[in-house]
Amino acid sequence: MIEHNSTEDQVYFAYFAPYSMERHADLIAFAQTSERCQVETLGLTLDGQTLDCLCFGEPGASRKTVWMVARQHPGEAMAEWWMEAMVNRLVDHSDPVVNALLDKAVIYLVPNMNPDGSRRGHLRTNAVGSNLNREWDNPSLDKSPEVLCVLDKITRTGLDFGLDVHGDEALAYNFIAGTEGIPGWNRERQQQLELFKMTLANLNPDFQVEQGYPANTAGNANMSYCSSSLAECFGALVMTLEMPFKDATATPDIVQGWSPERCGRLAHSCLDALHLCWDQVIK
Ligand SMILES: [Zn+2]
Repeated sequence: MIEHNSTEDQVYFAYFAPYSMERHADLIAFAQTSERCQVETLGLTLDGQTLDCLCFGEPGASRKTVWMVARQHPGEAMAEWWMEAMVNRLVDHSDPVVNALLDKAVIYLVPNMNPDGSRRGHLRTNAVGSNLNREWDNPSLDKSPEVLCVLDKITRTGLDFGLDVHGDEALAYNFIAGTEGIPGWNRERQQQLELFKMTLANLNPDFQVEQGYPANTAGNANMSYCSSSLAECFGALVMTLEMPFKDATATPDIVQGWSPERCGRLAHSCLDALHLCWDQVIK
């Protein structure tokens, strides 16, 4: 329950800080001013909006390929706050971790996988009611052109590491879900997953490894998920990052709760974790 005595004529309430499509347009325009970023329109959505992709670094035969996508579920605005911080860091030429990563990798970002759902105010679906994170095994122009055009680009670039960024309404924790249960799961993949999660937990106390979704048993992964589909197809470490809506249980902030600023710190920690784990998780 919310009790509030307003001194204004209009008041807005949100479950989490909104991330508007106007702010999204500003983010893309800002990224475009960086000489190390190329903006590419991967296609159009059913409502005729652009599906924007940011490419950092110089593609080349010797470079590995990192993909990070966010906001398949448009109500999970924390995922795009995470992306904004990622963009702000990747454009920084004075950042030694970014420079080291971009020496050996190209980093592709899709800051908003679901512009139609975002503009329409949907929680989990696109313009025709598709849950995009159930479309990766069989995307279509009719139901999920967003997934179709991103997957087409990934197929052309390849993928050596992937992160799909979300928010979870129920669990008040930051956690990572792996792709246990896909046909190609093995001990090495398990070790890569555990190393990345432990490194991230050591870097950032807002992230933890005790709470999260139960891992799928062998052969029981849902292959329509982004992470499962890409991990199986490319033989790479691909994970789903979940952030809370209200707060992180172990590290509460009684004034702000989970906030855009803390999403940003977590994004930066994810980049640091990738840097630290690089030799073990990139094959
Ligand atoms: Zn989600």
